[in-house]
Amino acid sequence: MPTLLVKNADVLVTMDDGRRELKGGALFARDGVIEEIGLTADLPQTADVVLDMTGHVVVPGFVNTHHHLYQNLTRTVPAAQDALLFDWLKTLYPIWARMGPEHIRVSAMLGLAELAETGCTTSSDHLYLFPNGARLDDEIEAAVEVGIRFHATRGAMSIGESKGGLPPDSLVESEDAILADCQRVIETFHDCNPFAMIRVGVAPCSPFSVSRELMRDAAILARQYGVRLHTHLAENAEDVAYSLEMFGVRPGRYAEELGWCGPDVWHAHCVELDGSEIDLFARSRTGVSHCPCSNMRLGSGIAPIREMLQAGVSVGLGVDGSASNDSGHMLNEARQALLLQRVAKGGAALSARQALEIATRGGARVLGRSDIGHLALGMAADLAAFDMRAIEFAGAQWDPVAALVLCGPVRATATIVGGRLISADGRCVTIPRQTVLSQHELLTRRLINAER
Ligand code: ZN
Repeated sequence: MPTLLVKNADVLVTMDDGRRELKGGALFARDGVIEEIGLTADLPQTADVVLDMTGHVVVPGFVNTHHHLYQNLTRTVPAAQDALLFDWLKTLYPIWARMGPEHIRVSAMLGLAELAETGCTTSSDHLYLFPNGARLDDEIEAAVEVGIRFHATRGAMSIGESKGGLPPDSLVESEDAILADCQRVIETFHDCNPFAMIRVGVAPCSPFSVSRELMRDAAILARQYGVRLHTHLAENAEDVAYSLEMFGVRPGRYAEELGWCGPDVWHAHCVELDGSEIDLFARSRTGVSHCPCSNMRLGSGIAPIREMLQAGVSVGLGVDGSASNDSGHMLNEARQALLLQRVAKGGAALSARQALEIATRGGARVLGRSDIGHLALGMAADLAAFDMRAIEFAGAQWDPVAALVLCGPVRATATIVGGRLISADGRCVTIPRQTVLSQHELLTRRLINAER
């Protein structure tokens, strides 16, 4: 039973029920689970692995609630740099259609390494296209190698251009095949036990790329297995217009009609939710993944996060796909979330600690996990440490916790998942990092060159 001692943290941010911040904090974990937490002097002095975190702030590992890892291969594609959502998608679909299993695996490894290096310990991913034999298995394999906790969601697109949908027909699948594969990946990979490293969700891509029937059947299937549901919703004004035109209702009502509200559902973006939809989400305990960088990058708008939090909606943060962010850094996302709410609502709209909370505890709630997201007895030893002696934090010693969000963003000195160090000094240590970078570069070059 391996043990871990993290000691002498300048501040250990527990995010526990009392939101305690322990100066000179420490925690002791056995077999990946926190056994003791408190002041360094009161805890065991030795362990199999001892990390002296003098000069550091230690936080619960970040929980990323929305991503499309494969998009790491298509960052900053010139023709898609300045487009709004629908045109952005139509520009990138033909490039994505050329991917295969190796693209999915390598880009997932790279994207998850980026997240790990910046303090993320649990990530979800929304994979909704499976060209040329690609499978959800390919990214799960990558996550196992990186050692991050992973919620893979089996996405899908079934309504192609010829039927009034947005994606090209070559990227859509039959609805029977989609449901059969959802069932396969749940049965193969989903682990419902506490401290699970892999969970699977069901995630039709969006109301504008699948049918009403698939949305409904996906919800029924997910509930048969007790897995979670995820999709994109109300991302921008075009998205709402599509819903009104095609379904005659706003996105919130559409979701409700098809069984897509509830404590086992989380929706990405929700930029355009109105007051009644916010109430619906609060009442039904439906979760939201807020992706501020992506929303700004695509000019989608400002999600009403302050109103959602006030209404009691579960809100987590997501970096979203790397073709619409083009970064996978949760501290940056927390910072941008804070800044963006202030643009819309003024200075006190979101505090640094609230931003940190939705990046950790909030994300865990959105993913339906009670074993991660804060540091307390019996919780997973998932944490990240940041060196406050970095130049980025100079002059901010009054409040290192707020500094973590307001300054920087920086890489983590240590990222620990289940008591295991997966990133040290901002470098993922579980994978052949340079090899993965080279493979990724080659795959990108071939994908983009084939376009020319
Ligand atoms: Zn997305």
